[in-house]
Amino acid sequence: MKVLIAAAEVAPIIKIGGLGDVIGALPKALEKISVNADVIIPFFPNAKTDGLQLFKSFDLHVPFADKTNTVEVFKTKLPDSNVDLYLLKNAEYFVTGGSNFFANNVTETQMFAFFNKAVGDYVKYALNTYDVVHCNDWHTGLVTAFLKEELGNERPKTLFTIHNLNYQGIGDPALLRDTGIIPGTHPLIDWDLSDGDLNMMQQGITSSDYINTVSPSYAEEILTKDFGVNFDDILKSREGRLSGILNGIDYSAHPVDFTSETSLERKKEHRKSLFKKLKIDPRYEDFPTFTFIGRIDAFQKGLDILTESVSDIAKEDAVFILLGTGDKKWEEKLTEVSKDEALAGKFSCNIMFDIDLANLMYAASDFLVVPSRYEPCGLIQMIAMRYGTLPIVNNVGGLKDTVEHGKTGFVFNSYSSEALTESMKEALSIYGTPKMQEMIKNAMEKDFSWTKSAVEYKKLYEKMLS
Ligand code: ADP
Repeated sequence: MKVLIAAAEVAPIIKIGGLGDVIGALPKALEKISVNADVIIPFFPNAKTDGLQLFKSFDLHVPFADKTNTVEVFKTKLPDSNVDLYLLKNAEYFVTGGSNFFANNVTETQMFAFFNKAVGDYVKYALNTYDVVHCNDWHTGLVTAFLKEELGNERPKTLFTIHNLNYQGIGDPALLRDTGIIPGTHPLIDWDLSDGDLNMMQQGITSSDYINTVSPSYAEEILTKDFGVNFDDILKSREGRLSGILNGIDYSAHPVDFTSETSLERKKEHRKSLFKKLKIDPRYEDFPTFTFIGRIDAFQKGLDILTESVSDIAKEDAVFILLGTGDKKWEEKLTEVSKDEALAGKFSCNIMFDIDLANLMYAASDFLVVPSRYEPCGLIQMIAMRYGTLPIVNNVGGLKDTVEHGKTGFVFNSYSSEALTESMKEALSIYGTPKMQEMIKNAMEKDFSWTKSAVEYKKLYEKMLS
């Protein structure tokens, strides 16, 4: 079986968030169970291709916005694998994207509509090569529509994975004309355009053969008004073709140099390095350390309740360290809070993207706080458990599916700073006790490797083909 996985990012070449991690790991795990998966992404200038054998394969001539655009197709291998990676290069559309906000000289939706058109043309060029085209999030939402439009029943089967329903890629309806699709000829497309814009997430949901999300709980939640972001009805109408497969994590990206028996000692040493690096007062090295690692997205990641709880917790004998980038307003707000004298240097706020620092934080801290309002899967809590760092999570989506209260972490049941603070205090109450040691052992023993998830994806691909 041969699959083409299309996405906006693939770690370690381009990584902005969890999506990059998933696209970097899934094809490698599929390869191990005899599914031949290729990956296709835009070739953004900040792609980390040093050390890779990269060669130009061929040119595609992609009609878009009333002209023919040359797309250079580069080919390489995903590091440490035999997975073929195709990078699509174009000087007009993929100029400065791939950084945090996809800043570009065209709008994001234009950029990805063009990318989708190019992927569609690549599949046509490679006709009969792929059994399945697996698209991911709104950045690839039009690929399935193009394949349906241009190849009809000759097309490969299509799977659309929703990694985050809240990011939808809403653009100008005129973009469709740029791609050559004429409004008025497709009921599903016209339905989308009837509210005055083009929604690339909606296109992916309505035009793909199957849909899945990245955890079983999120697959159920998005059928409700609270989590469905106005798509609950559309999703319900496709419920028989919707499922949830939990993401795994790539253990090779997170080396751990201790076991649950040696964790206390090693964590102490890592803590020393971390505190030195972040210039945190060494007097606090023996205090319980909480961390937050993630995108600064106030709505999803729970930064409003987190800010209130941090102020409470940092007044105790505890340290809080944050690493993240995102919403500028919230970056400033968090930096401001960290300067509050009442917190006496016990809140270290690091507004940056730094993978090595993230790994050091996972290794050095005791608790990782994930107060997300919604969380399709979440990788950080699984990575934390790998390092014996106990997650404190809201009872939603993938957090619910991966953390067991009192066994591998702490789960709170309402989205409020009170519930979060209470949970953090519960964590403080077991700090240094045999109970905590037992929980660290349970957490470190958990297997979140990709193997299990890859088997689920293989089954789904097979079901789609049968
Ligand atoms: P999301 O996909 O919503 O961004 P996930 O929890 O699924 O969140 O994945 C986040 C991934 O990105 C994890 O691998 C995490 O370690 C990493 N990450 C997030 N923010 C940063 C940062 N500022 N520096 C380094 N790594 C980060």
